[in-house]
Formats: sequence, C-alpha cells, structure tokens
Amino acid sequence: MNENCLFCKIISGAIPSSKVYEDECVYAFRDINPQAPVHVLVVPKAHISSAADVNAENSVYVAKCFEAIAKIAAAEGLGNGYRVVNNCGEDGGQTVMHLHFHLIGGVKLSEKII
Ligand code: AMP
Ligand code: ZN
Repeated sequence: MNENCLFCKIISGAIPSSKVYEDECVYAFRDINPQAPVHVLVVPKAHISSAADVNAENSVYVAKCFEAIAKIAAAEGLGNGYRVVNNCGEDGGQTVMHLHFHLIGGVKLSEKII
C-alpha cells in the first residue's frame, strides 16, 4: 500500500470504483475513460510501480493478474477475443504508477501497432 497512489486508494476503497472482480491478490475495475465497450483495469493488490519493477519476489502477482484476466474476459462475454495492454514508464505512456493491465474488448480492435 502506497499512501500517494491512486490505485492503492481504489483497492482500499478510499476512492470509489466500479469493481468487476476481486480476489486475494487482484482487484479489477472499469476504466473511468473507456476506450472500448469493455475496458477493465486489472491491478495487483501489492503496490508494484510498473512492469519494470516485476521481479522473482513479486511476479506471482503478474501470474494472478493473468488468471483473473481469463476469468473476467469470460464473464464479460469476450469469447471471440480481446487485447491486454500494459503501458510502462514515461515513454510507454504510463500515467498511473501502479502496475496495471488494460483488458479491452467487445469490439473488433483494428488499430494494431504490433
Ligand atoms: P495508463 O495510462 O496505462 O497508466 O492507464 C491509467 C488508466 O487509469 C487510464 O486509462 C485512466 O482512464 C484510468 N483511470 C484514471 N483514474 C481512474 C479512476 N479513478 N477510476 C478508473 N480508472 C481511472
Ligand atoms: Zn499503488
């Protein structure tokens, strides 16, 4: 828990969110500025600043996030596919420095950069 972190405050309930999933390690909620019909942010409950800070001690949280993503995608009706995005650091366009995965779907995603 990081007192100055927006997503830590959302996880703790200090800031409200539209929760879609929660377990021991993961919290997931709807993005406030959705870029697709389904746009969920999947975050580890441990404060990990970015993908650049994943290591052997905390990588279980990344695995748990992807287990959650599979469940949330199924629950949201994304059986035909979806995209998972992580923005890392300034050049990657990350704006909230708490590791998170964007789960985006519900439409044919055409703007591929990779
Ligand atoms: P990123 O730019 O990859 O760091 O993603 C941060 C995301 O957090 C953006 O898509 C924002 O729309 C989203 N966001 C910011 N504040 C909130 C909030 N209070 N509730 C839900 N999503 C938020
Ligand atoms: Zn945090």
